[in-house]
Amino acid sequence: MPSQVMPTYARLPVMFERGEGAWLWDKQDRRYLDAISGIAVCNLGHAHPAVFAAVCEQAGKLVHTSNLYRIEKQEELAQELCRVSGMENVFFCNSGAEANEAALKIARRYGHFRGIDEPAVIVMEGAFHGRTLATLSATGNRKVQEGFAPLMSGFVRVPYDDIAAVEAVADPNVVAILVEPIQGEGGIRVPADDFLLQLRRICDQREWLLMLDEIQTGIGRTGKFLAYQHTFVRPDVISVAKALGNGVPIGACLASGVASEMLTAGKHGSTFGGNALACSAALAVLKALSRDQLIERAARLGDQIRETLRTALGQHAHVVDVRGKGMMIGIELDQPCGELVSLALERGLLINVTADRVVRLLPPLVFTEEQARLLADELSKLIVGYLKLTA
Ligand SMILES: *Cc1c(COP(=O)(O)O)cnc(C)c1O
Repeated sequence: MPSQVMPTYARLPVMFERGEGAWLWDKQDRRYLDAISGIAVCNLGHAHPAVFAAVCEQAGKLVHTSNLYRIEKQEELAQELCRVSGMENVFFCNSGAEANEAALKIARRYGHFRGIDEPAVIVMEGAFHGRTLATLSATGNRKVQEGFAPLMSGFVRVPYDDIAAVEAVADPNVVAILVEPIQGEGGIRVPADDFLLQLRRICDQREWLLMLDEIQTGIGRTGKFLAYQHTFVRPDVISVAKALGNGVPIGACLASGVASEMLTAGKHGSTFGGNALACSAALAVLKALSRDQLIERAARLGDQIRETLRTALGQHAHVVDVRGKGMMIGIELDQPCGELVSLALERGLLINVTADRVVRLLPPLVFTEEQARLLADELSKLIVGYLKLTA
């Protein structure tokens, strides 16, 4: 029977029934090693016992009441997020795009406070910020924007990892920079070590807000709770979502300083945002991350996987680069390689290809050493075989 779901994704012909850690099983009981985590969502793996318990317990008590009232779990989660991120307050929503919408509204309101009637935000080429109209407009990929004009105005685009280009922006309406610490959809692009530091310096000089989209890089993915914590930079705004609820939908926009004062009563809202169920899941995620030292594990295993991949593929004529941080790993080839996804699936391996020619790996942080070896070995064999085939 044909599916009546809108074909917004080119879905692979597989349906999973259950999971455990980094393993997934389909209807035929075939087992797959998950090296994509539902696109950086299930950082604790599938069917995590602590998240399961927290969600069940909360669902038996209270799922939703509304932000018309105080919500205990929401206040606990806000406190915990501020403690681990160094930010001051939090707006809760249900997705990454919504978290970025909140960030963009903070920037606009900040602009108006400064007497700028048409505030603009600097965004990067190759960026991905979401699919709503504002975040699609901020996204730096013409293919996903095509057919949706008129896009929203108020964005100034510069190349990624190019400080001189940011310095050269002379538009007096600019009030903020929105940037991913590592570009995810854009091809696991890791900028220069001092990129964020330089952006911070420019923001300080010009009184711009530094807003980080940590939706993919956050929640332990890169070997720090947030990727910016690899540096000494202090951002004004951070958006997170994806792995925050390990699959239970929740997003958050964290703010500090003047940015934390922009969204007051009546200025923004969300019906579901920060309800008791979603916040219970997120609290369980944060607790498990620290209890099981999963962030340190992500740093260590990620290095291991990259090292094995470099040994196997580093000298290959058609492999351009093996890069990333923690469990955010990219293998860039010199040619489009989308077919690798189906070939890997046939071998029981879930991977992803982004930006046409970059194999993207986002394994759950609960990966075992053995799974890390299995992934690196199987994948390098697959890539070598594929490159022979296409040569
Ligand atoms: C996934 C992603 C988004 C969008 O998140 P949704 O939950 O799909 O709206 C935004 N920014 C980055 C960096 C992402 O990886």
